[in-house]
Amino acid sequence: PHIIAEPCVSTKDTACIAVCPVDCIHPTPDEDDFEGAQQLFIDPDTCIDCGLCVDECPVKAIFPEEDLPEEWAAFVEKNAQYYA
Ligand code: SF4
Repeated sequence: PHIIAEPCVSTKDTACIAVCPVDCIHPTPDEDDFEGAQQLFIDPDTCIDCGLCVDECPVKAIFPEEDLPEEWAAFVEKNAQYYA
C-alpha cells in the first residue's frame, strides 16, 4: 500500500482524500490525537496502489511502501494501527 509519513503531522492537508478512488484515506479526528499527533492515515487493506494521492500532497508525505524513506519506516505500522 501507500503510506503517509512524518511531513503530514500537523499539516493534515486533505487534498489526497478527494482523489482516492477507494476512500481509504482518513484524518485523525480534530479532538483526538493518535499517538500524540494529528495527521492522515491510509488503510493498507483497502489501498489499491493507484498512486493518485502522491502528487496531491503539498508536503510530499505519501510514498509507495517500497519507496518510503528509512527514517519514516515506523509509519508503515502507524498507518496500519490506525485501522486495527
Ligand atoms: Fe487511495 Fe490510490 Fe493513494 Fe492508495 S494510492 S491511498 S488507493 S489514492
